[in-house]
Amino acid sequence: MEFYTTEQISKHIIRINPFWKDACMYYIKGSERGLLVDTGYGFGDLKSFVDKLADGQSYDVVISHGHLDHANGAGQWEKVYMSHKDIDLYHENSEYENIVQFLKNYVSDIESYPKELFQAPHDDEFIDLVDGKDFDLGDVSVKTIEAPGHTQGMMVFLIPEERIILFGDACGVFTLFVRPEATSLEEFLSTLSVLKSYENQYDRILRQHGTCESPKELLDEDIEIVHSILNGSDDHIPFEFNGIPCFVARAIDPNKNGRVDGKEGNILYIPEKIRKANR
Ligand SMILES: [Zn+2]
Repeated sequence: MEFYTTEQISKHIIRINPFWKDACMYYIKGSERGLLVDTGYGFGDLKSFVDKLADGQSYDVVISHGHLDHANGAGQWEKVYMSHKDIDLYHENSEYENIVQFLKNYVSDIESYPKELFQAPHDDEFIDLVDGKDFDLGDVSVKTIEAPGHTQGMMVFLIPEERIILFGDACGVFTLFVRPEATSLEEFLSTLSVLKSYENQYDRILRQHGTCESPKELLDEDIEIVHSILNGSDDHIPFEFNGIPCFVARAIDPNKNGRVDGKEGNILYIPEKIRKANR
């Protein structure tokens, strides 16, 4: 059984879709080198698949943030870039039991698969991924933008030659502020204005869940939502995410699992994550 398939997104960007259809990855293929963005849940042999894609080309591996659905395949590579701010988060959730618990949402008989298919955690040091790093791949490049919010070490990737930005989980259809690793929404607002400053450099926004792409308005929608949460004028509708009681900022239509008004941006949050804690 083939665990992964590809989809050509642009001249240089290939989306890697796992069969369980959650948390896609990206391979950016330049004329000289390649770059793998994220390593998925750590289920199945992603490395052999990517090696084939790379077709003899050298490539680097970067992790957008430390959540298990993006980072848990990292153990297959020796040299992996990830922000040091997400290393503890990564190690909290990198074991077999965690992968099984989350993958069960997509593959109901996950426990019947051989244990060898689950990748061991990355035990080497990660190489720190910092803001403003430029991966020169030849005829295309990838620039990192630090985007704290969803996690402390969240990274966004800009591919200027293709006018594409990879938001990942940083800003999306259900941006999550329900767990301890998230910053406050107040702090997230600064991240959104940093992303706004790059707006004239991209036309397409790629993500890694659901439809995996959003119209450019997504950023303004999230900015508007954060302002409304901060001033108490959002819809503030009780919601539950993976058993965690929280609030959704814009009313959603359960039949289409999207906003009632047809826009895409939305935020799930707990009240503790609204304001920056007094330190
Ligand atoms: Zn995430």
